[in-house]
Amino acid sequence: MRVLVAGAGISGLAVARGLAADGHEVVVLEEADGLRLGGGAITLWCNGTAILGDLGVDLAATGQRLSTLSLRTARGRRIMEVDLESLTARFGSAPRVVPRGSLIRLLAAGLPAGAVRFGAGVRDVRAGLDGVRVRTAAGTEHEADLLVGADGVRSRVRAHVLGDTPATPTGAAIWQGLTPAPFDPGPTTTLMIGRQGDFGFMGAGDGLMQWFFEQSWSPGDPPADKPVAMLRRRFAGWGAPVARVLDSLADGDVELFPHARHRVPRRWGAGRCVLLGDAAHAMPPVGAHGTNQALEDVAALTACLRAAPDPAAVVDAYSARRRRRAARASAVAANLLAVSGPRTLMQSEPLMRLMAVVPPSLGAPGFGRLLRALSDRI
Ligand SMILES: Cc1cc2nc3c(=O)[nH]c(=O)nc-3n(C[C@H](O)[C@H](O)[C@H](O)COP(=O)(O)OP(=O)(O)OC[C@H]3O[C@@H](n4cnc5c(N)ncnc54)[C@H](O)[C@@H]3O)c2cc1C
Repeated sequence: MRVLVAGAGISGLAVARGLAADGHEVVVLEEADGLRLGGGAITLWCNGTAILGDLGVDLAATGQRLSTLSLRTARGRRIMEVDLESLTARFGSAPRVVPRGSLIRLLAAGLPAGAVRFGAGVRDVRAGLDGVRVRTAAGTEHEADLLVGADGVRSRVRAHVLGDTPATPTGAAIWQGLTPAPFDPGPTTTLMIGRQGDFGFMGAGDGLMQWFFEQSWSPGDPPADKPVAMLRRRFAGWGAPVARVLDSLADGDVELFPHARHRVPRRWGAGRCVLLGDAAHAMPPVGAHGTNQALEDVAALTACLRAAPDPAAVVDAYSARRRRRAARASAVAANLLAVSGPRTLMQSEPLMRLMAVVPPSLGAPGFGRLLRALSDRI
């Protein structure tokens, strides 16, 4: 089958690998002039690393394996520690923090030479009964049996198949970065939760640390010209790692990443066009499910095409397989933590400390149940 993939992000490159390995003729059309290696580090849970393993991606030399998930109050008191090693043993694949750029490079390295065409932003899509035609901004025409829209949160392919259903701002954003670690966080990802928002940090390999501050934000807010000072004010009084991380930063290290969320559609495409990753279900990065869900899409689409290699019929089987779990992940990402409104009361120091009464032995089974509820793979 001839397959066109719009977008050379994590979803597009991963699905191209899966489909090429199954013998399909795959071309990836990427708008940018080269691979887009920017962004922070991505947390891959057991399902994400398992699917990458199935695709032949070896992560052993990249990033940082995770052994513990630590939840803390804003002051730094322990709420819960989740033993991720027990989940690794149960699911057969370890969670890992990997710089987005490193993962993009690894995925691209496994594709046949010339499979990715750069400077080839998809502009027009015309789908007929016997094929799909795509015209790029540069005016080149491509024809295929199936078009996979993996072109991110502002997807052209989504606009073509679903009409104008843009992702909407959620009222929150993270201020984040991937910088030299001011201390060794070990194999632990830590999330501190308070009424102002939340703060997280984790090692990302090679002496780097991924950190983020999440708080309320709307598109009309003026940009902070001194973001480090702004974060110091907003997170004043928080536990020690906050000040240690902020002390290590320059303003240029801080990137604003606004949150946006799609309504997860019932049908993930139409005719010979299907949607994948952020094009199907952009969601806030809270809980780190966006990329893992994109990889679930890749596994589901390749499995559906393997079971019934009919490009005109795959949309229904693929949508049915994915939409419930993706909608659940999106709801978790949107509702897990509050950054404004009355629910922030639940995140006050005394109430958060009450949660520490949950026996530590329940942490890993509970988190394992959540991962299973979001995954077809584990
Ligand atoms: C530069 C960049 C930095 C990011 N940084 C972070 C981060 O720090 N933290 C985080 O949680 N998430 C980040 N993300 C988002 C994260 O990668 C995704 O949420 C997740 O991995 C799903 O990826 P995706 O491949 O579906 O979409 P994306 O990662 O958005 O990839 C979409 C790709 O499609 C290309 N594209 C867009 N329009 C067209 C078009 N019309 N034709 C052809 N190609 C097109 C884009 O250039 C991009 O390469 C970032 C994304 C990008 C592009």
